[in-house]
Amino acid sequence: MIQMNDLALQYKRLKSDIDKRIDNVLNHGRFIMGPEVHELEEKLAKYTGVKHAITCSSGTDALLLALMAWGIGHGDAVFTTPFTFISTSEVITLLGATPVFVDIDERTYNIDPELLEEAIRKTLNEGKLTPKAVIPVDLFGLPSDYESIEKTASKYNIKVLEDAAQSFGSRYKEKRGGSFGDAGCTSFFPAKPLGCYGDGGAILTNDTILSDNLKSLRVHGKGSNKYDNVRTGINGRLDTIQAAILLGKLSVFDEEIRLRNEIAKEYSNELKDIVTIPEIPKDYISAWAQYSVLAKSPEERERFINHLEDKGIKTAIYYQKPLHLQEVYKKLGYGIGDFCIAEDISKRIFSLPMYPYLSKDKLGYIINTLKTIKEL
Ligand SMILES: *Cc1c(COP(=O)(O)O)cnc(C)c1O
Repeated sequence: MIQMNDLALQYKRLKSDIDKRIDNVLNHGRFIMGPEVHELEEKLAKYTGVKHAITCSSGTDALLLALMAWGIGHGDAVFTTPFTFISTSEVITLLGATPVFVDIDERTYNIDPELLEEAIRKTLNEGKLTPKAVIPVDLFGLPSDYESIEKTASKYNIKVLEDAAQSFGSRYKEKRGGSFGDAGCTSFFPAKPLGCYGDGGAILTNDTILSDNLKSLRVHGKGSNKYDNVRTGINGRLDTIQAAILLGKLSVFDEEIRLRNEIAKEYSNELKDIVTIPEIPKDYISAWAQYSVLAKSPEERERFINHLEDKGIKTAIYYQKPLHLQEVYKKLGYGIGDFCIAEDISKRIFSLPMYPYLSKDKLGYIINTLKTIKEL
């Protein structure tokens, strides 16, 4: 079987370095906020070109902590797309605020900036909720259109929180994924472009006051120490062992992003007449968390997926059900037809195996299998 991802191949390459780093932690014994955590934070800030990197317990907690630091809660509207993982909206509702969904651009699958402005205006006109923030999601590794989003956000005085869980390693011009907006949040879940061996995440920002608040919030709202509590926080730290693993992986990360881009290029060259290939606009480099293509119809997608499975090739569907149609959000009152593009894409999209160490042989086999299916 060719899996969607193969972390064992990466471990084989990095084993001696990662094992040594874990061993170091086991010996020094500073499992919570040990020296590796601080070293990683410095390296992440440098890598993304921001002043502060604050590591934390997961990508979800990164988003949660940022919204908490901004005091977002009941009566506030936070805009995002319905075509993302549940975390993006879960943190909004967890704090008592209301997610206001905005449809995606049909080419990039990221939030449509024009529809964002429309949604903000509509919310203001209705007068029930106060627009406070937007969470653009850099889906599959491609940064959102931050030039337009930031312009709109500053016009209406709302915060921009980049969900860079899938886009760490990406670029737009000279800027790196995670460095956009007022703050960027990323995830180190094992299957993300930069993953650890458990849960982990980070917030990236140039805002020093926000950074100080986040460092307090992730340790129970600490003041001068964790037994001096000045605000309601969470237990949201990154483990030292995970930081050590990430330091090992960061040393080869740029090369891995380059390899992902080579694989994506090969897929796109070979599959452009078979399926709708992902479109990467000018000046963007994707981190290729996923390589996702569109079939012509839900039936064709099913045919592709079943035949690929028969030929030993795994695929995945991100995402089957847009968030506005999830049971948990019934009370928000959305229905079928509210976000046509997200709904259409969710019925036709599927993702192919994508990882830096996918061999040329396997890649060729996947491509040829797709071509054969098309001819059936
Ligand atoms: C993975 C993911 C998250 C959550 O990250 P975790 O580390 O799993 O909590 C949030 N948003 C998006 C878009 C993701 O893909």
